[in-house]
Formats: sequence, C-alpha cells, structure tokens
Amino acid sequence: MSQILKGNVVAAKLKEEMKERIAKLNENGKQPKLGIVRLGNDPSDVSYEKSIIKNCDALGIETEVFEKDANMTTDELADFISELNDNDSISAMIMFRPLPKHIDEEVIRNTIKPSKDVDCMHPLNLEKIFEGDMSGFAPATPKAAMEILLYNNIDLEGKNVVVINRSMVVGKPLAMMLLEKNATVTICHSRTKDLKEITKKADIVIPALGKPKFFTMDYFTEESIIIDVGVSMTEDGKLSGDVDYENVADKVKMITPVPGGVGSVTTTILLNQVVYACENN
Ligand code: NAP
Repeated sequence: MSQILKGNVVAAKLKEEMKERIAKLNENGKQPKLGIVRLGNDPSDVSYEKSIIKNCDALGIETEVFEKDANMTTDELADFISELNDNDSISAMIMFRPLPKHIDEEVIRNTIKPSKDVDCMHPLNLEKIFEGDMSGFAPATPKAAMEILLYNNIDLEGKNVVVINRSMVVGKPLAMMLLEKNATVTICHSRTKDLKEITKKADIVIPALGKPKFFTMDYFTEESIIIDVGVSMTEDGKLSGDVDYENVADKVKMITPVPGGVGSVTTTILLNQVVYACENN
C-alpha cells in the first residue's frame, strides 16, 4: 500500500508554529509585513499575489502591494527597492519573476537587502546554502520539498537521492539541502544518459522537469519514494506533475500528488521566511 505524502498537513503544521511566533512578535510590538512588488498586470502574477495576500491575512501578516509600471527602468526599480530596504515597517519583500526583459536582473538581485530577501534572490543568500549554512532564506520550492521529507520522518542519511533538475531555483539548492542532511545526491538533467537506470537505483527521486506524466513506472521500483516538484498542464488542460500519477501512485512506497503536494507548501515557506525576517531584522 503506497503512502500519499500530502502537502496540506505539512503547511498546516508550519502555520500553527507561525501563529505562535507572530503572537510573540506582536507582544513585543513587532508586526511582520510583506512588501509585494509587481511590475505590470500579468494575470499569473495577480493570481499568485491574491493567494499570498489571502494566506498572509489568515495568519496576521500584513501585506502591501506596490504596483509599478512594467516599463520602469532598472535604475528606477533599484531606487524603489532601496526605499523598501530602508523602510522599517516592511519586514520582507518579494518581486514577481521573470522581471520584464529590459530589466537587468543582476542589478536588482544585488540591490535587495539580504535580510529582507525572502524569495532568496540575493547572491549572498544563495551562497549561504551552497556553503552548507541553512539558517537563512531559501528558495521556496526546494525548501517545500525538504519540509515534506522532514514532516514524514523520511530518513535522508546515507540515502541515494536523485534530483532531476539543475536550475538555480530548484535542483542546485535542493541538492545542497539534501547534502546537508547527509544524503548521497545525484543531479540529473536533459543530457543525462540512462536516466531510468539511475532513478531505479535511488531511494528517493525528485523530478522537476515541467513535463506532464513523463515518469512512468519504468523509472521506479516498489521501494521508490517520489517527491514530484514538476507542475504543468496536460493537453486536456489538467494540472499534472512530472510523474504519471494514475499509473504509478499505488505501485511505489511513497509519492506526493500534484496538485496537493509540493506546490501546496511553497507559499507557506515564503510566509515562514517573512516571520523569520521580522524576528531577525
Ligand atoms: P527549468 O529551469 O526549465 O528546469 C528543468 C530541468 O529539467 C532542467 O534542469 C532540464 O535539464 C531538466 N530536463 C528537461 N528535460 C529533461 C529530460 N528529458 N530528462 C532529464 N532532465 C530534463 O525549470 P525550473 O524553473 O527549475 O522548474 C522546474 C519545474 O519545477 C517546472 O515544472 C515548474 O513548474 C516546477 N516548479 C514547481 C514549483 C512548485 O511549487 N511545485 C515551483 C517552481 C517550479 P537542462 O538543465 O539540461 O535543460
């Protein structure tokens, strides 16, 4: 019988802990507040923004949306971020990405104050992770995958974990987080040969391709633990993970569903980092 690793229970536990921490902050006259910087009106940004605000409201985290002209220059955006850096009422900030093409993301990444950078854009925050220091901010998606493993008491020490993604927002930081827990980590990508042979030998497989139903049972064994990070649409417009869930879920040891798995923890991770920023600023 497979175990389905749902994200909502993980998010609920984190939220309970956060409520206590926010109450403590309020007792000490501090109020966590997230500044949301949105350039333009992209519908997916607006929808994500609504979900963040709803979650913040439910926990007692204040939000302020700064809607900016999508045509603003890199210098103008950097100046605005500097203002938020100096604004003591804002504990943390996020910016919807990708930024418009004319904006130099390198400049922006380096402008945001590392102690308010809850989306882990600043190179210093990423560097900490690569140095094995997990005490700061982390990109939300890999951190959500780690929280699911942790919540379910899945032992990582000495385990063979295969991450199929080498991006700076998912695969590489996730590999560092797993390494810090003493897992033996293999990173795979589009040029990897014999992927099936590699995933079948792993204790834990973490795909993050963005290719719906790519991973059939040929890639797994009945002992596989799968944390499916991929999210994309099937041809008939349904949300799907990278794993062919219908045909795999009851044949492996453990698996996260999509939707309802990693994605349902990521916003909570972001909010957790807002509370952390308020505690530490
Ligand atoms: P990305 O930069 O496009 O990375 C995709 C990775 O998959 C790359 O490393 C790519 O290899 C690899 N890949 C593609 N085809 C492959 C194949 N046939 N065999 C093996 N590896 C292959 O995307 P991303 O921004 O990291 O996001 C990855 C996925 O995570 C997307 O589905 C996205 O929806 C999902 N995501 C989920 C959440 C969440 O909350 N659950 C949040 C963010 C992103 P190369 O490097 O060689 O190209």
